[in-house]
Amino acid sequence: MTSRTRREFGIGAAAGLAFVPRMTRGQTKPRVIVIGGGIGGATVAKYVALNRMVDVALIEPKLRYTTCFMSNLYLAGLRSFESLTHGYEALADRYGIKVIHDVAISINPAAKTVRLKRGMEMPYDKLVLSPGVAFKFNVIDGYDEAVAEIMPHAWTAGPQTKLLRAQLDAMDDGGVFIITVPQNPFRCPPGPYERASLAAYYFKQSKPRSKILILDAKDSFFEQDLFQSSWDQHYPSMIEWLPGQFTGGVTAVDVKASVVKTASDSFTANVANIIPPQVAGSLAQTAGLTDESGWCPIDQVTFESKRQPDIYVVGDAAITGDMPKSALSANSQAKVCAFTILAELTGSQRPSPHLFNTCYTYLSGNDAVSDAISFKLDSGTLKISGISMSKVDDKTEVRREAVREAAAWYDAFTHDVFG
Ligand SMILES: Cc1cc2nc3c(=O)[nH]c(=O)nc-3n(C[C@H](O)[C@H](O)[C@H](O)COP(=O)(O)OP(=O)(O)OC[C@H]3O[C@@H](n4cnc5c(N)ncnc54)[C@H](O)[C@@H]3O)c2cc1C
Repeated sequence: MTSRTRREFGIGAAAGLAFVPRMTRGQTKPRVIVIGGGIGGATVAKYVALNRMVDVALIEPKLRYTTCFMSNLYLAGLRSFESLTHGYEALADRYGIKVIHDVAISINPAAKTVRLKRGMEMPYDKLVLSPGVAFKFNVIDGYDEAVAEIMPHAWTAGPQTKLLRAQLDAMDDGGVFIITVPQNPFRCPPGPYERASLAAYYFKQSKPRSKILILDAKDSFFEQDLFQSSWDQHYPSMIEWLPGQFTGGVTAVDVKASVVKTASDSFTANVANIIPPQVAGSLAQTAGLTDESGWCPIDQVTFESKRQPDIYVVGDAAITGDMPKSALSANSQAKVCAFTILAELTGSQRPSPHLFNTCYTYLSGNDAVSDAISFKLDSGTLKISGISMSKVDDKTEVRREAVREAAAWYDAFTHDVFG
C-alpha cells in the first residue's frame, strides 16, 4: 500500500491491513459475504478486502448502481443519468472482491450459508447485509407495485427516476405536481423537500405557472426553516406544504382519476410522486433480522444483528438511533463494521467507532446547504454529539460555494465507495 493510499483511507484502514487472521495450517482464508452492492455494502466489501488475507464476495443483482443522491438534480435537468451510475469493476480488479451479480434469496444461520437465486449455496464466516429499503405497498389504499409504474416513487434510483423525469417533462405549464411524504423513519429525510425545490427550479425556467403540493404525514421536517425561506425567495407561491395535522396524511390514490386522497380531501395531480412508508430490504425481513418496526435491531457499536450472531446489518435497513438513513451514514457505519469484522477475524483490538453524517442539499441550481453531524453512543443508542448546519441568512456566495463543494463531494465519495 502506498503512503498516498494510507492517507486516503485513514489510520483505521491502515490498521485493518496490518491484521493477520488466526489460521491453522491448511485452513482456507476467512470468508466474508456482503449482500447488497449499494453504498453500505460496497463500502464494507472494499474495506474488508483491504486485508488480502480475507476472501470477500459481494452479491448484487445490478450490473451498475445508480445513486439516489443527486438524482433530484437529474429530475431538474441539471445532471445526466449516466453521471449517477457506477460499475463494480474497480472493486473486483483493484481489491480482489468476488462480485456476483445475483439475488441472495435465503440465509441459513445454523449452517452459515447464503443461497442465491441461480442456485449457488455459499458458506460464510461473517455475513453483512446492506439491502437498503423495501416499500410498504397498499398501506396507501390503491398504491401497489403496478400503480408505482404510473405514480412513481422514484425512491430507489433507476427506471423509477427516469419515469418521473419523463412525466415532469411531459407535464403542461400550469400543471400540479404532488409529492407525498411518509412518517419517519424513511430513507433520506430532506430528500422530498430537495425534490420539491429542484422541481420548482425546473418549472421556474420551463413551466412557470405550475404548482407543487407536498402532502406530508408529518408536522415538521429537517432543515424546515432553510427550505421554507428559500421557497419564499426563489419560488414564491409555487410550493405549498400541507402538514399531517391538516390532512392526516395520504390514505389512498385513485390512479384512473389521477387523484391523491387524504382523510378529508382529494387532490388532483398532473404528476403524482408517491413516496410510500418503508421497511428494511425484503431479505432482512424473510431472514428474521427485523423487529416489529420492520427495521433491523443491531448492536450500535459493532453493527452485529441482535437476532443472529456473525450477521451484520448496515445502512438504511439498520436501526441506528439518531443517525439518519443516508448514504454518508451507510458509508460511515460500513467502515466501522468492516474494521470490527477484521478485528474479530484476527483477534485484534476493535477500533473505536467514529460515526458521522454530512449532507449537501440543493435548494436551486445555484443554492445549496449542508449539515455535518457526529454521533456518540449513549446507553446503547447512537445520539447526536455535535452538529453544524447552514443558516437561513448565509450569504449568496456561501451557498454557491456549497454547490461547488457538493459536486466535488460526489466525486470523492463515490470513488471511496466504488473506486
Ligand atoms: C431522492 C434521494 C436523495 C438522496 N440524497 C442523499 C444525499 O444527498 N446524501 C446522502 O447521504 N444520502 C442521500 N440519499 C439516501 C441514500 O441514497 C441511501 O441512504 C443509501 O443509498 C443507503 O445505502 P444502503 O447501502 O443502505 O442501500 P442502497 O444504496 O439502496 O443499496 C442496497 C443494495 O442492495 C441490493 N439488494 C437488496 N436486496 C438484495 C438481495 N436480496 N440480494 C442482493 N442484493 C440485494 C440492491 O440491489 C441495492 O443495490 C438520498 C435518497 C433519495 C431517495
